[in-house]
Amino acid sequence: MKEPHHSLNYDHAYNCPVCRHGQISVLPLMEAFACNFCRHIFEVNLEKQSITMIDGQLPLTWRWTGRNWQGMAATNSLGWGYGLGGIAFVILPTTIVGLGAYLFPPLPGSRLSWLPLVWTGLTCAAHLTCVLWLILEYYQFPLALYLQVLRQRSIE
Ligand SMILES: [Zn+2]
Repeated sequence: MKEPHHSLNYDHAYNCPVCRHGQISVLPLMEAFACNFCRHIFEVNLEKQSITMIDGQLPLTWRWTGRNWQGMAATNSLGWGYGLGGIAFVILPTTIVGLGAYLFPPLPGSRLSWLPLVWTGLTCAAHLTCVLWLILEYYQFPLALYLQVLRQRSIE
């Protein structure tokens, strides 16, 4: 038999489920964890073996499995409706622009024959960036911190 995993308690430090980089450990005199990297604060529920981020826009919750964190689908997920919306937001304009270029092709050999293709690519990239940005905002992902660390590492 395998050794039992250690449970969620105030004596251990755990990997941060948000940035997956720092460690969360208990704040002195409080029943809360804080990350030493992204600085998010989590309310601890020992009974449910779960933590809830309390300084974000939404109360994201993770359950401790004994080895790692498991996102609670009900509260963490944006929902498939949003997912579909996000995909449509990227696919539809790209398709429309691409279709336009396909249906009304520029004259072969004309100087701007490359434009529709580039324009289609730009449309896709711009909309994709929008969606990614919204996702990062939603999850309060510490992108700036990550970039900072990467930069420091490349200097060292
Ligand atoms: Zn963190």
